[in-house]
Amino acid sequence: MLGPNKTGFIEKPDPKVGPRDALVKPLAVAPCTSDIHTVFEDAIGPREDMILGHEACGEIVEVGSEVQDFKVGDRVLVPAITPDWSKVESQAGYAVHSGGMLAGWKFSNIKDGVFATRFHVNDADGNLALLPKEIDPAVATMLSDMIPTGLHASELAGVEFGDTVAVIGIGPVGLMAVRGAVLHGAGRLIAVGSNDRPITFEVAKKYGATDLVDYHAGDLADQILKLTDGKGVDKVLIAGGDAAHTFDQAMRILKPGGAIGNVNYLNGHDDVVFNAANWGVGMSHKTLHGGLMPGGRLRMEKLASLVVNGRIDPSLMITQRFEGFEHIADTVELMHKKPADVIKPVVIC
Ligand code: NDP
Ligand code: ZN
Repeated sequence: MLGPNKTGFIEKPDPKVGPRDALVKPLAVAPCTSDIHTVFEDAIGPREDMILGHEACGEIVEVGSEVQDFKVGDRVLVPAITPDWSKVESQAGYAVHSGGMLAGWKFSNIKDGVFATRFHVNDADGNLALLPKEIDPAVATMLSDMIPTGLHASELAGVEFGDTVAVIGIGPVGLMAVRGAVLHGAGRLIAVGSNDRPITFEVAKKYGATDLVDYHAGDLADQILKLTDGKGVDKVLIAGGDAAHTFDQAMRILKPGGAIGNVNYLNGHDDVVFNAANWGVGMSHKTLHGGLMPGGRLRMEKLASLVVNGRIDPSLMITQRFEGFEHIADTVELMHKKPADVIKPVVIC
């Protein structure tokens, strides 16, 4: 990111490695819709000459003197969120906010990201995980952000066995929210996307969606209420839409006592709006949760186990594969324009 609305390649020296850090060269990387919000929508404020990207796996080229469990040459999974594990926020259970709100999100936010020939990882022992030999590097990039974020949606909402769940938005994050809710025991699962990107509906079905709703075909809340005989749903997972309408639609379709799990990255200039009546004039026991994906090594190891053991097949989401570092620019362009055949492009470096 050269500046707002501007991307290109820049030269920078290798980052310095502190005693607990590592330097990693990427094996594969993928662009995120969040990179697009940052560059083209001013979602977190302007950035200049900042290297983008937070989805990668790689090979370690240098480790700090205090790193215990990783060495040069290890192939590693890299989470998008790399907390400082010794901060008090981490001890309070919110490591993603270690050092301040969202400060665990370092790559392509408050420091250079992974679209670099070498990138810096803080707290290597706390944040890296060994790349299992069964997982192909292109597939491993889905473990940085798409799997942890999508699965977090149903953790936030507390999906339980037999719940009827609506997932609003079925890009790669929403598709992983679908899969996560199914793994958490959802009964009926209503996926909201659009026929403009039919491939997302196809993959949502493979991940376990039972009903598909096109948000262009009429108000999505009306459609879901009709599908459920006016009863609505137990949980809503939000991975798309906007601040002005989507939360109101979600409140409207929730049963009393239901919960929303939002992982959509909203624009900091907007207000989240929902009608008080849809929230039971303040007394519905409907709750709204939103969260950044948890990062760190243990989380990476556990999510990798879901892939190794066939519970999640991330390869269904990889729609384009490029070879060569220079193609990173093409994938950012694809993510920006989102042609109908794109879910997630990947670059093998
Ligand atoms: P995509 O753009 O690929 O997917 C968005 C989905 O929402 C699509 O299915 C889209 O349909 C649908 N959609 C768009 N507008 C509406 C609407 N008005 N009502 C209902 N559905 C709508 O994004 P990603 O899956 O890549 O990412 C989703 C979000 O998650 C992004 O905001 C991203 O920045 C964020 N994110 C959050 C993270 C976290 O830690 N919390 C981490 C990573 C990403 P269609 O394409 O057909 O228009
Ligand atoms: Zn992301």
